[in-house]
Parts: sequence; C-alpha cells; structure tokens
Amino acid sequence: MGKQTSPSPSPHVVIFPLPLQGPVKCMLKLAEMLSLAGIRVTFVNSHHVHRRLPDSGYFSKYPNFRFETLPDGLPDDNPRTGDQILELLQAMEAVSRPVFREILSSGSPAATCLIAEGVFVWAAGVAADVGVPLLYFDTISPCGLWGLLSLPNLIQSGEFPFTDEELDEVVAGTDGVMRRRDLPSFCRIKDVNDPIIQLVIEEANHIPLAQGLIFNTFHHLEAPILSQMLTISPNIYAVGPLHAHLKSRLPGGDPSIASDSIWEEDKSCISWLDKQPPKSVIYVSIGSLAVMTRDQLYEIWHGLVDSGSRFLWARRPGSVFGPGPRPDDDVIVPLDLAQGTKERGCVVGWAPQEEVLAHPSVGGFLTHSGWNSTLESVVAGKPMVCWPFHADQQVNSRYVEEVWGLGLDMKDSCDRVVVAEMVREVMGSRKDEFSERASEMAKFAKMSVSPGGSSFLDFDRLIEDIKTMKILHVKKY
Ligand code: UDP
Repeated sequence: MGKQTSPSPSPHVVIFPLPLQGPVKCMLKLAEMLSLAGIRVTFVNSHHVHRRLPDSGYFSKYPNFRFETLPDGLPDDNPRTGDQILELLQAMEAVSRPVFREILSSGSPAATCLIAEGVFVWAAGVAADVGVPLLYFDTISPCGLWGLLSLPNLIQSGEFPFTDEELDEVVAGTDGVMRRRDLPSFCRIKDVNDPIIQLVIEEANHIPLAQGLIFNTFHHLEAPILSQMLTISPNIYAVGPLHAHLKSRLPGGDPSIASDSIWEEDKSCISWLDKQPPKSVIYVSIGSLAVMTRDQLYEIWHGLVDSGSRFLWARRPGSVFGPGPRPDDDVIVPLDLAQGTKERGCVVGWAPQEEVLAHPSVGGFLTHSGWNSTLESVVAGKPMVCWPFHADQQVNSRYVEEVWGLGLDMKDSCDRVVVAEMVREVMGSRKDEFSERASEMAKFAKMSVSPGGSSFLDFDRLIEDIKTMKILHVKKY
C-alpha cells in the first residue's frame, strides 16, 4: 500500500450532523461561519429534516454552500423522539452509509475535510476509505461527553453497572462534584452488552482516530474538561456558543438570520411577553426530543400554577404520552389549572426560543437541560430550573447547579411541591443571587465569541487547519 499527497486542494468541508433539531441547528451555524470564511461547504441533511427546514433557501446567499440529502432509514411517520435514538442510529448506519459514502467521494471539487457528529462511529471508516481527513463535532456538552467516555473505565474497574440504590455514591476523580445519578442517562443501563453501551465504548475508541474535536462551548465555562479532552484528541476547538458566535461574525450583525426550527414557531408568545413585567415570566420547554408522561405533565403544570409565577410554556405536539386526560383538550383540564393558566400563563406548541430567552420579561427557564438550550440560556443570562431527560442532560443539570451556580437541578423528581418551590426560589427568594451569576456568565460567553475571545481564536485556528488539510489518496493493491 502506498500513499501520495495532492498539492493544496481548495478547501471543501462536508458537514454531517445527526439529523435531529439540536445537532442540525448548531451545525448549520458552524456551516454558515465556514461559508462566511470563504470555505466551500456541503451540508448533509436527512430528507426528513430537510423537508421541514423552513429557511433552507436562506443559504443560497452563499455561492459556495450546498445541501445534499439522504434517507435516515426510518418510515416517515416515526416520531423520531428521544426514546428512538438507537433505532435512528441503527437505521442510518444500514441505509444512509452507502449514500453518504457516495456524497463524500463524489464532491467536485473533492472534499478535503469531513466534520461528522461524534456518534457516527462508522463515519471514521468511510472517511479513511475515501481518503478525507476527519474532525468529529460532538454537539452534546463536553462535560456530558466526558461522563460518557468514563464508561469504559467504570466497566473495567467493576463499578458499572450499578443499582438504583447506589445512585448517590460519588464518582471517583470528580472532586465530589458528580454522583452516579449525575452521569449521562445511559449509565443507568444495567447490561454491559446493551447496544447503547456498546456504542458508547465504540465512540470512545473512535474519537482519537479523528484529527480533532469541535465543541459548542467556550473555555471559561469548561476549561478543566477541555484540557482533559486533549488527552484523547490532538486538537480541540471550543468555538461556542455557536448561535452567538455566528451573530458576532455576520457583517453588521446581520439581523436576517435563518430560522433553523423544524417546527413552526408561534410568535404570538412574543406579544404576550411584551405585556408582562420585567423578569416575571418563567419560560418552560423540554426541547425537541424529550417526552413526558401525562402524570408528569400535570405535576409540572400544578407546580407552575402553585408557584404563583407567570409562565410561558412551549409544549411541543406529541411530547406527552400515556393514559389520562389529553392536555390539549381544554374540556378536561382541571378548573384550577385552567384558571391559573388563563391568569398568568401562555401555552404555545413551539416558541422562537432564542428570542424568548432574550426577552426582558423572562426571568428564568425551566428546561430539560439540552445543550443548545443550556447555552442559549447562558448567553441570555437567565437562571435555570433543570429537569433533565436523557443523554448529557443529567450532567448538564448538575453542572448548572453545582459547578456554575446558575440554577437548580430537579433531576429524578417530578412533584408539584418541588416544582413550585424551585420556581419560587429561582424567580423569587434567590433571584438576585442567580441573576448576578447568570449575567456574569453571559458576559464571559459574549466575550469569548468577540474578536480576540477564546472561541473566536479557536475558530480562526480551525479555519487555518482546514485550509492545510490534505486529501490522502490511499492506493489499494
Ligand atoms: N427550541 C425552539 N423552540 C422551542 C423549543 C426548543 O426553537 O419551543 C430549540 C432550542 O432553541 C434549541 C433546540 O430547539 O436550540 C433544542 O436543542 P437542545 O439541545 O436544547 O435539546 P434537544 O431538543 O436536542 O433535546
């Protein structure tokens, strides 16, 4: 087998996100930043996501940007919620892999760099086969990824799996910050041979195969974790928060930014917010994948009403399951909830979240602790009540309370009394304390994406590295 390197090809990055709202949204921001820097970009979307993206035409303003689409292997009516992630990943590996290989190998000019979601372990093989250098972009939080990557060690030391009674034990080597319940949700699986556990182990083995790792975070927020990441990857690029970073790079802060929402945003909630007093509203959302039972819905709803706070609830269609009264059916809503919601609440299906969080009437965020939502709240300087659902969210919520002091962690509890107490604390009794820290962190976030800031410089370094990447033609005999 012999190797030969072609002379400085013109840079062409192929971006391959996990086809879900959160990853697509932040990879689109990165794609736009690369386009602004004059790099040719091919963005690979699933048919399902692409059809629902309202502003895909927006990207035609970049002559060197194009979309490619491929099937995700799931039937159209599959809800693609958080409990179906494994199904999606398996279907993609089986169905999308050959189409993806074709896209990667047939680009004109040829692809010089692949940026793939970290969970696509098979992308490393395709990239090596086609001869395209690979960077992984893990769109979950670095602290969450670090928790996942600790799994092989926990297995080796015999600590994993653990029982539900052992969830409050402290995880060694975390300075007492992490209990077992704060590890990513997958760590609660009891079988080492479970396909998700096997996938995490594979991911841990594949990350070092890439030339670098991109993160949607900033140094001030996660410096210790980022330096640990250097032990598994030679190049770490912390370029976030990407939604704020893109704005800081758009000429004149271009206001006509694309909506990357795959659900229609109900902007009526902004006029409702306009009528509320400053910092009086808690915004509630569990993101694009999380689901809750009807019992949980009613506990949260009662808690919100009992807290006495005003609330704006983005209640995604299809996010509630199980037997019991249908929440969208006004007739069945108990009278006290209907009354409390009418007086102090506003419920929409899907909100323009960044605009909502930036609104002066919003004083806090009851969130599922998805990484995009967490960063959007950090940038807006809004304290959080965290009710994590899965994946990195168990880690993020712990960091919000224990490491960053930006709010409270409500994990593993869904009780109306607790909800009401925590909302009162964040919106009332401890409001000043949390707001002060949140404003401070927001300042650091904004500094990091301004010229000279850590994320700004890391992105410049990423561009330079992309420009010098070489296609490796591997001759096969
Ligand atoms: N989002 C939105 N409107 C909503 C709820 C969520 O625009 O009503 C956006 C939110 O701004 C964020 C994304 O959906 O960028 C959710 O991503 P996150 O990583 O927080 O959670 P996931 O949906 O992946 O669980």
